[in-house]
Amino acid sequence: MRDRDPIAELGALLSRLPGIGERTALRLTYHLLGSSREYAQALGRALIELHDRVRRCEECDNYATEALCSICSDGRRDPGVICVVGRPPDVAALERGSSYRGRYHVLHALLAPLDGVGPEALGLAKLVERVRKQQPSEVIVATPLSVEGEATALYVAQELRPLGVRCTRIASGLPHGGELEWSDQITLARALEGRKEI
Ligand SMILES: [Zn+2]
Repeated sequence: MRDRDPIAELGALLSRLPGIGERTALRLTYHLLGSSREYAQALGRALIELHDRVRRCEECDNYATEALCSICSDGRRDPGVICVVGRPPDVAALERGSSYRGRYHVLHALLAPLDGVGPEALGLAKLVERVRKQQPSEVIVATPLSVEGEATALYVAQELRPLGVRCTRIASGLPHGGELEWSDQITLARALEGRKEI
């Protein structure tokens, strides 16, 4: 019996990536065949290491290569303020675009009842436990200013309310459905500065 065709197989795998159709997937596959063997092997190794070496930070749930991410293990970051974001790229956006010096908490999901994403997907128990233990003076909810982001923010605030922590929400004014990732530095800084109690 013949092995599966490696060209067709890689093409099929690549076409499952977001924004990559079948034609692009095949073009990329031929591009890799035309590139050096070393490059293709380095790419393969990087793909294998991605899941082997990257894990969730024990404290904030952001991706990390150690037990604690670089922000949680940085003693200069203020542990008294926790900024809750929807996805890991939002941490990178805030780090790039603002002078925020507190800590983060990454949810990895937003509430979307219509798509079957309920509160259990947010894993809020970890955040609630963290707030209970560390007693920060403020939790800033910086989920996107979309319907899902707003619903998530209200739910987070509701879950934290019994703990008596001050909960704030970033101000509106972000473009593109309130995605932090695509916002410029000035808009991000303003959204953070203009935060209000929820
Ligand atoms: Zn962390």
